[in-house]
Amino acid sequence: MTVNAKALSGADHHDHDHYVEDYFLATAASVERLTPSMIRVVLKVEGGERLVPSGHPDEWLRLALPPDADTPVTLPVLMENGKWGRPDGSKHCPNRPYTIRRWDSATCEMVIDIVVHEGGVAAGWAMAAKVGDVVGLCNPEGRFWLPKGSRWLMMLTDITGLPAVGRVLEDLPAGFRAIVHVEVPSEADRQEIDTQADVTIIWHASHGPRADRPGYTDLPGIAAGIGSLPDGPGYIYIAGEAKAAAACRTHFRDGLGFEKGRIDAIGYWIQGQARI
Ligand SMILES: Cc1cc2nc3c(=O)[nH]c(=O)nc-3n(C[C@H](O)[C@H](O)[C@H](O)COP(=O)(O)OP(=O)(O)OC[C@H]3O[C@@H](n4cnc5c(N)ncnc54)[C@H](O)[C@@H]3O)c2cc1C
Repeated sequence: MTVNAKALSGADHHDHDHYVEDYFLATAASVERLTPSMIRVVLKVEGGERLVPSGHPDEWLRLALPPDADTPVTLPVLMENGKWGRPDGSKHCPNRPYTIRRWDSATCEMVIDIVVHEGGVAAGWAMAAKVGDVVGLCNPEGRFWLPKGSRWLMMLTDITGLPAVGRVLEDLPAGFRAIVHVEVPSEADRQEIDTQADVTIIWHASHGPRADRPGYTDLPGIAAGIGSLPDGPGYIYIAGEAKAAAACRTHFRDGLGFEKGRIDAIGYWIQGQARI
């Protein structure tokens, strides 16, 4: 497992962001319903020795799925002109961003947690996935970065951000203060996360369609309920539905006057739209 000492050291944001384009095939070694709304897939990555971790604990990659039931996943190749393409005319594969929940560079095994929902290419693949199924993936990139001098961390995510929450909390140094709000569809979707940090995690079982409100998520409502932040410099990481994540950022920046350079808000999915 990677330890993200660099991501926690407070070094400059961009000093090692050098992305190496590369693609891999990976085979499902196990598929498990982790909680009612989450499917855990362990992938054995072919040629995984080449994989370049991003150094960010929220790192994600694009999972490439079969173009149709009769066509297996194929990868782009590095062409003579130095670009990646499909000179043999192989079919483009639909792909979606997923967080690397765990990476074991010794065994080249990768854990990906996929949220179950209706009408998704990736979610649909996960619901039908079985051992031996083959997907594609690329080198990861990431964003999470504790700015210099941070004394605390706040994370506010829906269930799609739970893999990032798990990875970040596992990597935090002993005693570091973290306050985490996670919106899940049901109480049964809570997870146990191992951490040495000083973490308060608050679960909100409000995710998904509800008769008493429009939309799929109450993340902005959860943010609005946070009226104060710990003292001293900190970092706020927000991940969820795109409009909801933006509304949460607005609450902390404009509502509470928190420094905008210390907030990362990422739209992980877009209501009513595929994440292509
Ligand atoms: C950096 C990053 C990291 C991510 N990490 C993870 C992760 O670890 N695990 C994870 O499950 N997701 C993660 N996501 C979110 C995931 O990429 C999107 O949910 C994606 O749309 C799923 O693809 P799909 O093919 O299932 O659905 P799409 O084909 O993209 O969308 C089809 C329909 O489903 C809806 N939809 C998409 N996602 C959801 C959802 N979660 N709940 C309800 N409706 C939805 C869309 O609005 C659309 O109407 C991450 C996204 C980003 C940007």
